[in-house]
Amino acid sequence: MSCYIGLDIGGTKIMVKSIDTNTHQSILYKEPTPIDYLEGINLLHHLIKKAANGRKILGIGAAIGGPIDHKNHLVSPLHQPNWRDIPLKKIMEDKWQCPFYVDVDTNVAAFAEYTLGDYQQGRFLYITLSTGMGGGFILDGKIYQGLSHPEIAHQCITHPYNIVICECGASNCLEALVSGNGIRNIYKKPAEELNTREWDEVAYHLALGLRNIACILSPEVIVFGGGVSIGGGNKLLDLSANYLHKELKLVSSPKLILSTLGYDTALEGAVLFAQAKHLH
Ligand SMILES: [Zn+2]
Repeated sequence: MSCYIGLDIGGTKIMVKSIDTNTHQSILYKEPTPIDYLEGINLLHHLIKKAANGRKILGIGAAIGGPIDHKNHLVSPLHQPNWRDIPLKKIMEDKWQCPFYVDVDTNVAAFAEYTLGDYQQGRFLYITLSTGMGGGFILDGKIYQGLSHPEIAHQCITHPYNIVICECGASNCLEALVSGNGIRNIYKKPAEELNTREWDEVAYHLALGLRNIACILSPEVIVFGGGVSIGGGNKLLDLSANYLHKELKLVSSPKLILSTLGYDTALEGAVLFAQAKHLH
């Protein structure tokens, strides 16, 4: 009797899921993330034990906010200020005596979308557009790491009327124009209350970002997940695609597609990581 374990360690909630290696049945636990990191680690151990339910754990995969120091295996998730330079791999491998794999949540989600979705193209980009914004690029089936995790949301897009300061501290980031928090800041209301003209403006700004991405990375497909994407739906993507097609002259337009995996994409990716699927 054995299982794999996936962890999604988010700023507000922790999710732990086990998959039985024979029956493929899963057990899922979800708890609020404690502020203190030691409490967080203890909660993870507790939930892993419950999810394993006496079975041998063959591997653990995890998705967590960046940045991650892959060389020294240290995690410092931006939105969990008490977690700084935490040797998560050592902590998990010492405790559970099995391989442990971790990556930035948007990379893990991108890998799940690539592996489980219908669009396994050579250059595949996943964008999550929710409270914040992030992305993961899959190149020939492998997660593209770069020198540091690429942050497509923090490319510069000039706002026509004023300078918008992003939560990262830089000015005029794409995220500050099109994410849930960015929309609240600019329009003084949540994304679901935007009128047609305001959605059109968001779609236009998104298209400017996608244009840069298309010109530099030339992806075949861009899959969108996260609450704002799913809320805006195909209407948002169609509007953006129209603006994008008009401005792309020398490179092909990528297909813009809504995620079909729902909201727990990073957790699904973490379970794939547990099986070391990303290494094949
Ligand atoms: Zn930024």
